[in-house]
Amino acid sequence: MRILIVEDNVALADELSADLKRCGYAVDWLADGRDALYQGASEPYDLILLDLGLPGKSGLDILREWRATGMQRPVLILTARDHWVERIDGLKAGADDYLTKPFHPEELQLRIQALLRRAHGQVNQPQLEAAGIQLDEAKQAVIVAGNSIELTAAEFSLLRYLMLNVGKIISKSQLNDHLYDGENERDSNVIEVHINHLRSKLGKSAIETKRGQGYRFIGIQQP
Ligand code: CA
Repeated sequence: MRILIVEDNVALADELSADLKRCGYAVDWLADGRDALYQGASEPYDLILLDLGLPGKSGLDILREWRATGMQRPVLILTARDHWVERIDGLKAGADDYLTKPFHPEELQLRIQALLRRAHGQVNQPQLEAAGIQLDEAKQAVIVAGNSIELTAAEFSLLRYLMLNVGKIISKSQLNDHLYDGENERDSNVIEVHINHLRSKLGKSAIETKRGQGYRFIGIQQP
């Protein structure tokens, strides 16, 4: 899952970025409103964190323009405490949720999880669940038949993406777009290696290869 942070407070943006990376998200950061307007709509982000007071263009104007052009990505706005007018304006402009600064990192993580699951038509249960497999996002572990199996950071973010898209064919380029930020080198051979590691942990048939098309997460088939 790839997240764009639009925030001109550098210290806050640094902290947010580090928190989100720890939680297995690929993160891009922009401080200027005009850059955000363009890049937020053109890059395939799964979610956008949007500050409202920004140089170049205000967060509200950006959000209105995105929604007017049909941009559907989940947007969570960051507002100052007690600015209830901002929160209402933000929701009216098309925000999916908001958080008031300062906030607890865990609250942000839980709101992001909920928005991503909703965007993929999944129920917001305590753990992400798909096709007989549970993912513990806090511990970055997978639970198969009651047993918790540890995952590497790369395996965790890959499996989360596949589970949120259960049953769908996902191409390697889609995985590259959604698992890496705009700066890191992308290499589809690396994805293949992680897919094989996941298969050895979940069972060979949990992830199907569709020749020439990509992968499909099918989980554990009930007997
Ligand atoms: Ca600001």
